[in-house]
Amino acid sequence: AAKETGRNCYSFFTASMQQTAQFRLGMVTDLRSALANRQLEVYYQPIVELPSGAIRKAEALLRWRHPQRGMVSPAQFIPLAEESGLIHDIGDWVFREAVQQAKLLREQYRPDFQISVNKSPVQFRPRSDVDFGWLNYLKSLELDGAAVVVEITEGLLLDAQTLTKARLLDFRDAGVQVAIDDFGTGYSSLSYIKKFDIDYIKIDRSFINNLSPESQDEALCEAIIVMAHKLGLKVVAEGVETEQQRDWLIAAGCDYAQGYLFNQPMTGSELLVLLTGFDQD
Ligand code: C2E
Ligand code: MG
Ligand code: MG
Ligand code: MG
Repeated sequence: AAKETGRNCYSFFTASMQQTAQFRLGMVTDLRSALANRQLEVYYQPIVELPSGAIRKAEALLRWRHPQRGMVSPAQFIPLAEESGLIHDIGDWVFREAVQQAKLLREQYRPDFQISVNKSPVQFRPRSDVDFGWLNYLKSLELDGAAVVVEITEGLLLDAQTLTKARLLDFRDAGVQVAIDDFGTGYSSLSYIKKFDIDYIKIDRSFINNLSPESQDEALCEAIIVMAHKLGLKVVAEGVETEQQRDWLIAAGCDYAQGYLFNQPMTGSELLVLLTGFDQD
């Protein structure tokens, strides 16, 4: 009987695996046409300076309006884009959109406004087709490198290959700033941060969620802020949802915050209206 159950379990498992594989294949096909069919959109979430609350930067966050499934979360489709290699073209497109938005906001709102763009480790790998030059694109728009912050993850630095290192140095030489995203969830090696001349640490939302004297996350956040400042880095708190969290972060000396308490991610034209009070479209 045990054998029978085992076999049943196995075949059930196989069927669901097959379904998953089919589902994923379908999604990759859909994603491939999404770019061409304008189903992808870049949203922007403001990043505010503490304690003033003034908006100084925004993070570009990809959105996919799927014709049948509605809004698909990047947490679901970024991994598919990475596995299929589509992340290269999608990421390049996000970058162009984000840089155009940065140019507009630097002209219309503040000359020091910055847009940050997520770049996953896969996007640092060599590709078979021609590499779209991010730095050349900035140059073609006559835009200062400092208009852009590239958000990378800790894992990228930990096993950085020569090519990755060279690209990070090229960014730095062009004035592009670098942030470590989701800080605290990976290896959190501060020696790498120093070696690569990082500008910002973004404390992961999971630490901000649990801020309370009982949870130890207050001690962790405090230590991260103190260490970052001693190394000359600025700190951004992610996922700030309550006034208590904001007040605690201000008292701890955190430099910037981002979260639903301040703003949800929004379209580029909504951001422009929010910052300048008028619509350009
Ligand atoms: P991330 O870079 O850590 O982005 C922050 C995520 O937290 C965003 O999720 C944002 O909408 C969400 N968030 C912001 N404030 C709050 C808050 O107060 N509460 C809660 N619960 N969530 C908040 P989103 O937009 O779903 O993106 C998820 C992840 O997908 C991003 O995490 C990033 O790793 C990846 N991603 C998004 N766009 C891109 C892209 O253009 N390229 C790449 N490579 N990855 C991207
Ligand atoms: Mg990010
Ligand atoms: Mg993050
Ligand atoms: Mg995060």
